[in-house]
Amino acid sequence: MKHSLFLGSSLLLSPVLLHAGQRNEIRWIPAYEKLEMEGKLAQRIKQAYAIFENCQLCPRKCGVNRQKGEKGFCRAPVKPVIFSYHPHFGEEMSLVGEKGSGTIFFSNCNLRCVFCQNWPIAHEGKGKEVQDEDLAGSMLHLQKMGCHNINLVTPTHVMPNILNATRIALKKGLHLPLMYNTSGYEPLEILKMLEGIVDIYKPDMKYMDADKAAKYSAGASDYPEVTKKAIVEMHRQVGVLKLDKRGMAIRGVIIRHLVMPNRVAGTEKFVKWIAETLPKSTYVNIMAQYRVEYKAYDYPEIARGITEQEFLEAMDSAEKYGLTNLDPQSIALRNFYRHRRSN
Ligand code: SF4
Repeated sequence: MKHSLFLGSSLLLSPVLLHAGQRNEIRWIPAYEKLEMEGKLAQRIKQAYAIFENCQLCPRKCGVNRQKGEKGFCRAPVKPVIFSYHPHFGEEMSLVGEKGSGTIFFSNCNLRCVFCQNWPIAHEGKGKEVQDEDLAGSMLHLQKMGCHNINLVTPTHVMPNILNATRIALKKGLHLPLMYNTSGYEPLEILKMLEGIVDIYKPDMKYMDADKAAKYSAGASDYPEVTKKAIVEMHRQVGVLKLDKRGMAIRGVIIRHLVMPNRVAGTEKFVKWIAETLPKSTYVNIMAQYRVEYKAYDYPEIARGITEQEFLEAMDSAEKYGLTNLDPQSIALRNFYRHRRSN
């Protein structure tokens, strides 16, 4: 009972029954493995790689030929650049478990926010250029360390490499949920190519207003509209978050929303949109950890951390619109603030 409460209202699933042998052996299989069994994964990789010749991987649609060494807005080369890979214990609890989320941080970014919390990696491209085989090796290394998933941070501009690496790793025994941990700024046609490959989507929803998106994310005024459509598509593909019997995430969508000072992130509009568009049991993490980073000092309205009141207001909105599957750590922080105020 305690365990169920801890997990919120995420669906607890039995693993997929694959081979019912004498001992009723049950084996969960990742999405990409099913697609490979259907003989479709190799073709998908070929299609994805072709996009590099006229890069349209993200809504910036630069049209550069990355195969020939041209670089677009994200400044990413055709090979993946990795900053680091390691078990990460700062993610949602259903991703971290005992051994951590197997996180791979990709360098460069197509959004380039002025308040970027990872700016040396995202803006300055610090990291090491590797081959797809090396990326596959990193995935397998994380699996060997006992990580519970492969957590691909800022994957958009290296999607073809990820697909290829996943297939290489699959052939060598990769058997973990694949998580696409993205800013949410993804074109629909690209997301459709990921159907049947990605097990878990973890998009941000950074802003609800075009002018804020344009101001703080390098002119990306279409971010709210693009990301809303992307999240709906992600939900269509994998649904609400599902956990296995150990409480670990195996499939579904986790939406992250960072509360910003002076209501810049449009939190009330965000929770209202979720409540009206997706099931109220959609897993939503309303985060309090905004820090003033990178160029945020140049923008007075975001040049401070959020207040206790701003976080409580955000959580109250989620409650008001009836969201039922909020991140337990956000709920704990809300309860702590409320308790402190009542004493
Ligand atoms: S991934 Fe990079 S090069 Fe490709 S469209 Fe987006 S910003 Fe441009």
